Amino acid sequence: MRYRHRILRRTRIFGNVPYGVDISHCSVKGKVALTFDDGPYLYTTELLDLLKSNNVRATFFVVGNNGGKGHINDPSSGYGPIIRRMIADGHQVASHTWSHQDLNAATAEQRRAQIINNEIALNSILGVIPTYFRPPNTRCGPDCYNDLKSFGYHVVNYDIDTRDWQDSGVNAKSIYQTILSQHSPASSQWISLAHDVQPYTVHQFAKFMIDTARGLGYDLVTVGDCLGDPPVNWYRDPVTGQARDARGASVHLIQPELESANNNNTRDERGETERCCNVDASGGRELWARAHE
Ligand SMILES: [Zn+2]
Repeated sequence: MRYRHRILRRTRIFGNVPYGVDISHCSVKGKVALTFDDGPYLYTTELLDLLKSNNVRATFFVVGNNGGKGHINDPSSGYGPIIRRMIADGHQVASHTWSHQDLNAATAEQRRAQIINNEIALNSILGVIPTYFRPPNTRCGPDCYNDLKSFGYHVVNYDIDTRDWQDSGVNAKSIYQTILSQHSPASSQWISLAHDVQPYTVHQFAKFMIDTARGLGYDLVTVGDCLGDPPVNWYRDPVTGQARDARGASVHLIQPELESANNNNTRDERGETERCCNVDASGGRELWARAHE
C-alpha cells in the first residue's frame, strides 16, 4: 500500500522573489533575518518564548525527521503544536528537507522524496506548503535547483554563517558582531544562519543576536520580509498551488490518499491531470500511518 500526495499546478508562481536560484542576500536595507535550521527540537519552545518576549520575528527551516527526534507530524512527537505556534507568533516556516539528506549526493528520486515528504508533514500540520526552502548544508547542484524550481521554491542561503554548531558556538558571537558592526544598516542587510537544535544558541546566542542587531540599528525580520515578499506568498495551497496565508489555513486541509499501487495518475474533480508522487523513501511510507493512527 502506498499513498499519493496531491499536487496541482506546482509551477504556479507568484510574487517578485525568484524561484530556483540561490538567494544569499536580503534586498531590504537595514534588516537582519535570523534563521534557525534543523528544528524543531527540545529547545525550540524556549526559543519561541525568547523571541516573543523580545517581539522578534524569525524564520525556521524545519526538518521533518532527523536526529532521532521522531516525525514532526507524528502526534506523539509533540512537534506539530510547536510548528503551529511559529505561525501564530508571526514567524516564517520554511522547509529544510524531510531528513537532512545531502541533496547533491542523493538520487533524483531520493531528492524529490526529501522535498515531498516534508511537504506532506508540514501540510498535515499547517494546511499549507512553504514556498521557501534551504537545502541541508546549502548543497544544491544544477539538478537540485531545477527540482526546487519545478516544485515552486525560493532557495534561501545566507550571508552570515555564525557557526553556532562548532565547538559549542565559541566563535559565534564574534563572527556575528564583527560582520554587523563593520557595516551600516543604512547600506546593508543580512541573512544569518543559526540552529535551534543547539542549546547554546537557544540559551545564550539568540538573545545576543537580538541585542547586537538592535543596538547597531538593524530591524529583525523574517526572510520573506527582508526580501520584500508579503506573508501570503510564503506558503501555497497544496491543491491549487496558489499563494495562501498560513494564518488563515485549516489544519488537515488535505490528507494524503491511499491508492492502489498501479494507479499513479488520477484526475481530480475538474478533470485535470494531477502530478502524483509515490513517496516511499526515508520512512515516508509509514508517515501517513503514524500520523493518523
Ligand atoms: Zn541543516
